[in-house]
Amino acid sequence: MSKPIAAIIGRPNVGKSTLFNKLAGQRIAIVDDTPGVTRDRIYTEVEWNGRTILITDTGGIEPKTDNEILQHMRKQAEIAIFMVDSRSGLTADDIQIGRMLQKAKKPVIVAVNKIDTVGNLPFEYYEFYELGFPDDPIPLSSLSGTGTGDLLDAILEKCPADDGVVEEDDSIKVAVIGKPNAGKSSIVNKIIGQKRMIVSDIPGTTRDAVDAYVENEYGKYTFIDTAGIRRQSKISDNIERFSVLRAKAAVDRADVCLIMIDASEGITEQDEKIAGIAHEAGKASIIVINKWDKVEKDNKTVNEFTEDIYTSLSYMTYAPIIFVSALTGQRLNKLFEHINYVYGQATFRATTGMLNDLLTDATTRVQPPSDKGRRLKIYYMTQTAIQPTTFVIFCNSVKLFHFSYQRYIENRLRETFGFRGVPIKIIIRERGE
Ligand code: GDP
Ligand code: GDP
Repeated sequence: MSKPIAAIIGRPNVGKSTLFNKLAGQRIAIVDDTPGVTRDRIYTEVEWNGRTILITDTGGIEPKTDNEILQHMRKQAEIAIFMVDSRSGLTADDIQIGRMLQKAKKPVIVAVNKIDTVGNLPFEYYEFYELGFPDDPIPLSSLSGTGTGDLLDAILEKCPADDGVVEEDDSIKVAVIGKPNAGKSSIVNKIIGQKRMIVSDIPGTTRDAVDAYVENEYGKYTFIDTAGIRRQSKISDNIERFSVLRAKAAVDRADVCLIMIDASEGITEQDEKIAGIAHEAGKASIIVINKWDKVEKDNKTVNEFTEDIYTSLSYMTYAPIIFVSALTGQRLNKLFEHINYVYGQATFRATTGMLNDLLTDATTRVQPPSDKGRRLKIYYMTQTAIQPTTFVIFCNSVKLFHFSYQRYIENRLRETFGFRGVPIKIIIRERGE
């Protein structure tokens, strides 16, 4: 089992070495006192929940040393513990270090240090959501050790024991999912047949997963687990269970999911189940109605189909629908335009400034709900993640924030920014006035 390597990163004096020493406990760390040797040579091993984590202290990072730390992260660390100081609140240097960590494309856990008293979190803690990392910052006291367990839990959660998949290239990862015989193999073969491509076994993935790489005038794409697609139609036992599990694994690695539906059969319960996998994983989706060549059409057919699909997949009206034929190749070029479009939407980040304008406008148009004389107050909203596109909204009362008002805010987000193809996650947080 691999040992996750976590690097403690942050500006000077936030408490990095205090945390390091706390975690090292009585253990003697490999300390290199030779002058000129940086502190990033210091490691300690921490045993936690039956696994070993290697912790390294990078020493004080000035944002200027950008390149060095990025290199360090890429080569060695799998995960960054980004330490900040609750006493000083969010500083300009923190923001700069945060940006640089975003570029390193490694998982980041924000640890808010020097929260020595248990109970209410200080106001400053919430400022660190603005750094824009997907997970909640972890409150910590390196001095007393409070919160270090949560921190170690978070590290292990980010580094699953069997995680051997490395995806370094910049192609858009596309999962083609759908029930057997929807035409998944046909569409991938058609696309691949037209273009030069390389099919590769990806080391570290399930042994028989085969990804197909395609480069064309629209961009670079990796179709995920095409072996699984081909296999499905040959396995007769347990076919549904198998295809669902396989789809789940492909979706987890994907940027964009193509949900293939057989036009000659219309939408079925199994299609709904499979579409739900992409939705629940928070992945961007395109609904691909295949075998369009087989359908007898008049000028109402497209609208009727669209209506049927959105009625059955009522949670997924954000996903665009495209009508294709894998057999004739009809509209497959349009498919690539759709993939690029939806991928752009899935990677878009709204700034907190834009979101506050949106909130001001939205709450003026439709007053937030109230109950027994108490009215919902929304303080602010920030986008904390992409893939899934996630927003955190801070307000005075979670209870007052009815689902219908959440729906309204989500609709405003879509009207303002689009987020076409992309499920939106909204997290409501309560905070004192
Ligand atoms: P680093 O050099 O950035 O790693 O920071 P240090 O570990 O040297 O800590 C800087 C200062 O913050 C020292 O005076 C520490 O005692 C203090 N400090 C570190 N962690 C905590 C904490 O959890 N609570 C409080 N109150 N002080 C802390
Ligand atoms: P998979 O199980 O989802 O991979 O489906 P396949 O690609 O194996 O296709 C199942 C069957 O549908 C095959 O007989 C294909 O030839 C046929 N098929 C796939 N796409 C189309 C299409 O666009 N039009 C028509 N008419 N048949 C198609």
